[in-house]
Formats: sequence, structure tokens, C-alpha cells
Amino acid sequence: MHRILVVDDDAVSQQFLVMVLNRLGHDNVVVANDGIDALIQLDAGDRNFDVICCDLDMPRMDGIEFVRHLGERCYQGKLLISSGFDGRVLESVAELARLYDLWLAGVLPKPVNRQHLLELISQPPPAIRHSINISHPTEEELRAGIEKGQFLPFFQPQVEMESGKIRSVEVLARWQHPRLGLTGPQQFIELAEGSGLITELTKRLLCDATRMMAKLPDPQLDMSINLSMASLGETGLVADFEAILEANRFPMSRLTIEATENSLMAHPIRALEVLSRLRLKGAGLAIDDFGTGFASMDRLSRFPFTELKIDKGFVIDAAQNPTNASILRASAELGRQLGLKVVAEGVASLAEWLLCRSLGVEVVQGSYISPPVDAESFRRWLLKHQGVFPLPAIAADQHPI
Ligand code: C2E
Ligand code: CA
Ligand code: CA
Repeated sequence: MHRILVVDDDAVSQQFLVMVLNRLGHDNVVVANDGIDALIQLDAGDRNFDVICCDLDMPRMDGIEFVRHLGERCYQGKLLISSGFDGRVLESVAELARLYDLWLAGVLPKPVNRQHLLELISQPPPAIRHSINISHPTEEELRAGIEKGQFLPFFQPQVEMESGKIRSVEVLARWQHPRLGLTGPQQFIELAEGSGLITELTKRLLCDATRMMAKLPDPQLDMSINLSMASLGETGLVADFEAILEANRFPMSRLTIEATENSLMAHPIRALEVLSRLRLKGAGLAIDDFGTGFASMDRLSRFPFTELKIDKGFVIDAAQNPTNASILRASAELGRQLGLKVVAEGVASLAEWLLCRSLGVEVVQGSYISPPVDAESFRRWLLKHQGVFPLPAIAADQHPI
């Protein structure tokens, strides 16, 4: 049975397509209201789709941009475009899909014809799929990109569940790539780590982000930044961080360093030294992606952590997935027992907000509150909310437990 994702902002066409698919015997159909929503579902990891039916004209992220993101993610399933557009636009989408080596099975004019849909869904894969490697940046581009300031800090807020207070913000790297457009970390973090450029990149981000933070309407927000394991071996890292913060008048006590469990295990001695020194200078320390690594509790307890960040993989569909809900509950409990601030990332809907609330999670981050956005959008978002994210009203029948 195929797993099918229908991406369409128009509720009527979306439901119509789902109905036709159901009648053709496909029950495993998930819907997304636009490209961003669809990417969130794809990135959730445990949802691999065999077929994606995508509309072209959608707000926030249109179908063309969505096709590019699918290409960057090396999506292997079948792609169907449903659209009311004419041939020229569809030809360019087909060309884009071909360049990204996506399997574009065909275009469905709207309204969708049942027989046509059936043929496209049952179409076998093409014998050969050529890849023109336009989707991967090179090391030279990366080096030049850092020098030319093409990397941008994006900001994703973290909100205190009890009060709705906007407490902090995670800085996430984006690359305004001259050839590929705005590119996410999946496209360059590994390359930056492998080529020894990750520390330079992190320092640039830290510098730009702290400078931008000073111009925000709430200049007292805390900030988190991701530190790669490859940076833990760099001498001078702590001094460089101190100098950057001092130059931008950002106190170390408002900075939290996020490190994944696995990165700590790769170089435990260096990691212990670097992170302890940063902690000594006043920075907070978060165990990132908690639950996905192989660190033993004994090892973890030797690091002076202040925060436990439950990985989004356990949060994203915890309201529907009892196993993930159990992991979420146990992680939150462990964090509390260890006296750590418990943060859940990947809170993408009201259901997950309510679940986290009921499990005593202290702080949440996720697209339900805001996706990561550029500095200007974040400034406007802060102004709109005046420091407090509106707490959702809980109806009796919405409570997850
Ligand atoms: P992470 O540290 O776990 O960051 C959180 C990721 O979850 C971000 O992805 C964010 O966009 C995503 N996310 C947040 N809320 C939701 C949600 O509700 N639903 C879904 N599906 N996703 C959500 P992003 O920005 O693509 O970053 C991916 C990873 O790349 C980060 O994971 C981090 O490991 C790495 N990364 C990003 N920036 C940097 C950086 O400056 N340095 C290093 N070393 N790694 C970075
Ligand atoms: Ca992180
Ligand atoms: Ca994470």
C-alpha cells in the first residue's frame, strides 16, 4: 500500500483528491496545507512517502520551491503535480524536477480525473534516472560563502509553557547560496565539518546573531547556538567566543551552547574541557537531540549540563504515537530529576503543545509557535507578540490525557 502525501492549500481540492484516492483503495493518505507544512512532515523522519501529489500555486511556499526542497532532500518517491496552470509553467517545473533527478510521474490538470490519477499512481519507475549534480554546494563555495557573509542566522523562539513568555531563541544556520538559493543545514553542515570550516562558520553566526539580538525589541532574550563536535578540538574556541560576545556586549550568561549526545562521545575529554570552560564563564549547556544518541547516563552526568532538549523526532507526532509519547514523558521526567531545564523541540501543533504541557515540559520550540525565520521577520514577530506567546485555550475534549 502506497503512503501518499497530498499538498494543497485549497481545502476543497485537497479533500476531493483524498476522496478519489480513498475510492481507488488508497487509505494511507496524509495532507499538508502548503510546502512548509509538507517539509515539516517529511523532515519528521518516520514518514516516508511513496507518492507526493503537489499543487503549484500555494501561499508561503509555492510548488516550485517545494520541488527544489524535495530535490535537496533527494526524495526518492513519485511526484505528481496537480495544477490549473498552463504548459509553460509546467514545463519549467518538469525541467527542475529532471535536474534534481526527481521522479516526476506526470501532471494532473485540475479537476483531477480518476482514471488519469490511477494510471499515474500505478506507473512503474523509469529504468534510468540521471542526476545532474546541481544540488550540492562545493567546499570552495562554502569557503567563499563564509568570507562573503552569505551565511545568515535564522531565529526560532523558545517559549515558557507556564506563562507563554518568550524566553530565548535558537540560532539556526542558513546559506543564501548564489546558485542554489536559500539553503538549509542539511546541505552544508556535514561539508563544513568535513572541511574544517565549521568553527569559522559558527563564529560568524555567533557574531552576526549577537549583533542582531541587540536590535530586537526585547534585548534581554537568551540565545542558543549549536556547537559541532568538530569544533570541540579547536584550541582558542572559548577565548574566541568570549571576544565575540564582549565585542557585541552580549553576556555569556545569556548564551546556551547546544551539543548532541553523540558529539560528546566522539571526543569526551576535549568536550568535557571545552564545555566545562564555557560553563565556568557563565554559558548554559544543553544536551541536544536527547534520546537519539548512545551516551550512557553515567557519561552524560559528568558534564555540567543545564538543559535537556528532547529531540523533535519524539515530539512531532507524540500526540498520535504512544511510543513517542512514552519517550517524551520519560525524558521530561529524567530532565526534571536531574534538575535540568526541559525543552521540547518540534512542537508543530496544538496537540503536541497540550501533551508537553501535561508532561511538565518547561519550554517549547517548534513551528506551532514559529518556524525559524530571518532577523527582520523575527523582529516583527516579537513586536506582534510583545514578549508573550498567547497561551492556547484548552477545551475539555482537547486535553490529551
Ligand atoms: P537541531 O539543533 O535539532 O535544530 C532544530 C531543528 O528542528 C531545526 O532544523 C528546526 O527548523 C527544526 N524544527 C523546529 N521546529 C520544528 C517543527 O515543529 N517541526 C519540524 N519538522 N522541524 C522543526 P534546521 O534549521 O533544518 O536544522 C537542522 C539541524 O542542523 C539542527 O538540528 C542542527 O543539528 C544543525 N544546525 C543548524 N544550524 C547549525 C549551526 O549553526 N551549527 C551546527 N553545528 N549545526 C547546525
Ligand atoms: Ca539545536
Ligand atoms: Ca534537535
